[in-house]
Amino acid sequence: MKDQTVAARKKKILAIDDDGLVRKTLELLLKEAGYEPTMAAGGQEALELLPQKNFDLVITDIRMPGIDGLQVIQAVRDYCGGMKRSVIPTIVLTAYKDEPIRQAVARMGVKEFLLKPFKLEEFLKVLERSLAK
Ligand SMILES: [Mg+2]
Repeated sequence: MKDQTVAARKKKILAIDDDGLVRKTLELLLKEAGYEPTMAAGGQEALELLPQKNFDLVITDIRMPGIDGLQVIQAVRDYCGGMKRSVIPTIVLTAYKDEPIRQAVARMGVKEFLLKPFKLEEFLKVLERSLAK
């Protein structure tokens, strides 16, 4: 635990990926960077966790079995709408540079993408930018 000021403004991040190694890596990076990550292995788990904490940010993979990333993004929007709160900023992780997915995600209002594998520096920059909104 770092000093109190840092602990007091620890941002809560919900991170979703079906790949265990990606999850482990993200969790470690987020903790190292001073955030408070909650990890989910899929859409269903993520949507169950969503109302449990007042998340500041969602990071989600797109291609996952069952409820996929696009459905997660939509569900987060519906949830925030229902709670009458502003939409939780979302970063999309994808290993595929395919344009249709990026377009579909962009149409849902998501502006931040990270293509796996990403550089730590880039990851932290996108996080800070998303949380500053
Ligand atoms: Mg995946």
